[in-house]
Amino acid sequence: MRRGAAGGIAVRAVKTVQAAMAAKAANTANGEGGEGRHGAGGADGAGRLHDVVIVGCGPAGLAAGLAAMEHGLDYLLIEQEPTLGGAVFHYPRHKVAMTAPVELALVGTMRFTDVRKERLLEFWQDVVARTRLQIRFGECLLELARAGDGFVVTTSRGTHRARCVLLAMGRRGTPRKLEVPGEDGPQVVYRLVDPSQYDGQEVLVVGGGDSALEAAIALAERPGTTVTLSYRGDAFARVRARNRDTLAALEAAGRVAVWLASHVTAIEPGRVHLHRTAGAHVLANDAVIVCAGGQLPVGLLQRAGVAFDMHHGQ
Ligand SMILES: Cc1cc2nc3c(=O)[nH]c(=O)nc-3n(C[C@H](O)[C@H](O)[C@H](O)COP(=O)(O)OP(=O)(O)OC[C@H]3O[C@@H](n4cnc5c(N)ncnc54)[C@H](O)[C@@H]3O)c2cc1C
Repeated sequence: MRRGAAGGIAVRAVKTVQAAMAAKAANTANGEGGEGRHGAGGADGAGRLHDVVIVGCGPAGLAAGLAAMEHGLDYLLIEQEPTLGGAVFHYPRHKVAMTAPVELALVGTMRFTDVRKERLLEFWQDVVARTRLQIRFGECLLELARAGDGFVVTTSRGTHRARCVLLAMGRRGTPRKLEVPGEDGPQVVYRLVDPSQYDGQEVLVVGGGDSALEAAIALAERPGTTVTLSYRGDAFARVRARNRDTLAALEAAGRVAVWLASHVTAIEPGRVHLHRTAGAHVLANDAVIVCAGGQLPVGLLQRAGVAFDMHHGQ
């Protein structure tokens, strides 16, 4: 575990907000805009120039949003998921997060050292409620382009203009979707967090990598859970041997059904449609867990002028 990682990130984010403040001060001196505003969650439109657009509401984005508020910046904080917390939200249930004390703007010193994920999320939700930090959930950054001294930020919900953009997007990327009808249903998730929540249910896991196999294995070991693993490939080519062997043993024992060369065509409440070489199938279903990897925003960032050094196998 990277001790104090959340604290270090918060500090870096605050420094970037300070850069936004400097940009704002310079523009104010030039006679452009300049009136500070706390919060920015309502209708936006490409006409309004924000001091800063913050992308992501994990620990870094949250800290940056609070710092922006404290300094009276006109900020816009967007988060692609329906909830805050970033990677912390997706930790396994009851995982203890280790962190060093950290200073949060508008809040003071956060004195947690070892804290359960649930408690940490509860603390952040309370901070958001108390400070009225505005977060635009379900809004995903799609494109970023320079425009004069600032940026045009294109998201899944529209276009924004900003003097500065703070990318607090983490390193997990955006989960790859199946792009099938019904995928936006509440029974569809992109990570297995707590296998026990599916006890007694009909679950479809989609994917052919280690995370898909590990999800299917964890679920197959739960009481009364019916598990099907669907993968479009003919074989699990790039997975750990131990996962492949464990899955094969569970399949032989009738604990998991493995559907190779299959793909999901539609999801409905109570059932899921798949296509397999032999034709169309409908499975009873309570939950779909898609483990199809993540799309890293490399192209988006490169188009925005961010340079990457690629290190392979180091
Ligand atoms: C299993 C695990 C255990 C860990 N344990 C610890 C620990 O004990 N202590 C510790 O200090 N650290 C720990 N870490 C690391 C810590 O969780 C991360 O360092 C921290 O969450 C990074 O924060 P972040 O805000 O930079 O990114 P993230 O937490 O990844 O948040 C990024 C946010 O940006 C959003 N986002 C991404 N792309 C877009 C987009 N295009 N548009 C809009 N929003 C977007 C994401 O949805 C996400 O909410 C752990 C990590 C993992 C995976």
